[in-house]
Amino acid sequence: MKTNFILSASLAIHAAIVAHEADIESLDRAIGDGDHYINMKRGSEVAASLYNELLPLPADEVLNKIGMKLLSTIGGASGPLFASFFMSMAKVSKQNGSDSLLEIAAAFAAGVQAIMQRGKAQIGEKTMLDVLVPVSHQFTLLAAEGKSSTEIAHALKETANQGLESTRNLIATKGRAAGLGERAIGHLDAGAKSCQVMIHTVCDLVIKGANP
Ligand code: ADP
Ligand code: MG
Repeated sequence: MKTNFILSASLAIHAAIVAHEADIESLDRAIGDGDHYINMKRGSEVAASLYNELLPLPADEVLNKIGMKLLSTIGGASGPLFASFFMSMAKVSKQNGSDSLLEIAAAFAAGVQAIMQRGKAQIGEKTMLDVLVPVSHQFTLLAAEGKSSTEIAHALKETANQGLESTRNLIATKGRAAGLGERAIGHLDAGAKSCQVMIHTVCDLVIKGANP
């Protein structure tokens, strides 16, 4: 992955989170405590504000610095989870490189794995993982098949939509909605929504011609 791409993505993600304030806010208000939008806004803002400082650095250092910054700025459950994602992605990028799509997929998979370990959660618990796990699997599969970045980006947007939608009829077993039992049914998960928004944003950059 290229430093330029990561930093363009961080600016685009900040804009996309702000543009989706109403959806993200209302979902966490319905079955959480209502702070998820604020957490996402603060996190994406602080990542975007590092642009000039990170521009001269190699991609793995950029990812690591974003992770460390998120750890100290986003509150809630999601802060440490996103921080672990970036720091693990950084580690695997540094070890194995992240030039090819297969290497980027492997770094992404390590990031998702770190979220699972940190939050002691897996797919089907009505969290952000219901978007991230299927996207990661699909990414690895399509990269291994030798699909182009544009083909992968189109496919991952669809996978993210399906993952988000899958949270609607789940009972939550992790996070604040876990106490609600059946009352959580019918609502999408807020963290899954912000992950869908971020994945769409990054894929759209690729579809518009940015080189990951
Ligand atoms: P908090 O739950 O502390 O208020 P946020 O509102 O920022 O934090 O984030 C809530 C989101 O975090 C949830 O919608 C869910 O997607 C995600 N989440 C919560 N707990 C976990 C966990 N253990 N593993 C993965 N994701 C989780
Ligand atoms: Mg919350």
